[in-house]
Amino acid sequence: MAQADIALIGLAVMGQNIVLNMNDHGFVVCAFNRTVSKVHDFLNNEAKGTKVIGAESLEDMVSKLKKPRRIVLLVKAGQAVDDFIDKLVPLLEAGDIIIDGGNSEYRDTTRRCRSLEKKKLLFVGSGVSGGEEGARYGPSLMPGGHVAAWPHIKDIFQSIAAKVGTGEPCCDWVGDEGAGHFVKMVHNGIEYGDMQLICEAYHLMKDVLGMEHDEMAEEFNKWNKTELDSFLIEITANILKFRDATGAHLLPQIRDSAGQKGTGKWTAISALEYGTPVTLIGEAVFARCLSSLKDERVVASRSLAGPSGAKFSGDKAAFLEDIRKALYASKIISYAQGFMLLRQAAKEFGWSLNYGAIALMWRGGCIIRSVFLGKIGEAFDRDAELQNLLLDKFFSDALHECQASWRRAVSVGVQQGIPMPCFTTALSFYDGYRHAMLPANLLQAQRDYFGAHTYELLSKPGQHVHTNWTGTG
Ligand code: NAP
Repeated sequence: MAQADIALIGLAVMGQNIVLNMNDHGFVVCAFNRTVSKVHDFLNNEAKGTKVIGAESLEDMVSKLKKPRRIVLLVKAGQAVDDFIDKLVPLLEAGDIIIDGGNSEYRDTTRRCRSLEKKKLLFVGSGVSGGEEGARYGPSLMPGGHVAAWPHIKDIFQSIAAKVGTGEPCCDWVGDEGAGHFVKMVHNGIEYGDMQLICEAYHLMKDVLGMEHDEMAEEFNKWNKTELDSFLIEITANILKFRDATGAHLLPQIRDSAGQKGTGKWTAISALEYGTPVTLIGEAVFARCLSSLKDERVVASRSLAGPSGAKFSGDKAAFLEDIRKALYASKIISYAQGFMLLRQAAKEFGWSLNYGAIALMWRGGCIIRSVFLGKIGEAFDRDAELQNLLLDKFFSDALHECQASWRRAVSVGVQQGIPMPCFTTALSFYDGYRHAMLPANLLQAQRDYFGAHTYELLSKPGQHVHTNWTGTG
């Protein structure tokens, strides 16, 4: 008998928690997994005493669903998603909905949308952020695909999503085809940037100011009561003060070699592909790559000299405020770049993206959740067509206010030999973006010189001319 509101396939960490979250919100979920014994385990353990029902096969699962059937896939991204779609298609009817909640590549989502449309099935690719905890108690959800599916899934999605402010859900319709997964990818890239920026602030505190871990933790706690109020600043304070069983701080004992799963890299690749200068996320990805060359760095540290390491002699409290403002200003640049990429992708693919809604989707439930995202939402409320976040008065005022500190933090860091790829690239971007004239005139001349690529004169826009640079005129 059709009794389930929705089915979920994939009972690993994410799937199990999303099922329980849906159950908490009053929906009857039918759970299925490739390895069917995991359905039994789940029903007899984590889901015991809930309204969750199980299925023995895909046919059994489909027969238990109310129409239009709604089926969520939370399986390993890639081939597993295509395999399940292929098996589901013959079992479904026109108007039924397949939702992929995994970390799929946005192009795959677009391909699946197009192919299922021909079969009159609706497909949604939804970004899901917040990890295990978010899945269980309120993730940030970024659905995109066939908009006709949205009225049928909106209630479930918005019920289980994280809530902010006066109960606004961190979930709204993102756009067509792979838009939801694209937005999730950019979210992950921004997460890379936020994390690296905090690491650079920590590096300056530790190596320029010589601060102890508890003192740094206290500083981050203070910062968490400012514009920087965010989940990542909060956990950084907790990490800094954490001690192991012997009473020693754990952080300095951790190998300084960062891992990555690839979504930051995808964002950087997309930025290159669509010609958008998302420099900060790119540097954040490269910073992880450089960190992973641990053995090489250890060897290099013995032979490559840096500044003498003269002790910082300035005002410590003032420099801490400089670092905080450098972090805030760089973060503004990073988000501005992330939204530039979204805008460019929207143009490439003909998506109509609601940028303010995207900022609000990230405000809760996910790793980059912060008060700051509310300010981005407000900027797009003021002007839905805003060309660039940096042109909004709130953000341009904030950058003007931070600018002197930002430059001081970067200068001192450079003089002391501290690597700050994200602080510095953010400042370079800011300086590049605010220059009406850049030295690319010379670049164009060079291109014309060696390759006859032509150039335009400022006085004659649109007319491409070539000069014989080695001729006698
Ligand atoms: P996962 O380890 O990525 O995947 C395990 C699930 O996929 C199991 O149900 C497994 O079935 C199934 N599966 C794997 N290969 C399969 C194949 N070839 N054919 C059919 N089924 C296959 O699980 P997860 O960590 O819960 O993540 C699920 C999805 O959410 C992934 O796309 C992940 O990237 C994304 N995601 C994860 C997180 C997170 O924090 N973990 C956060 C956001 C998004 P069996 O039990 O039969 O092996």
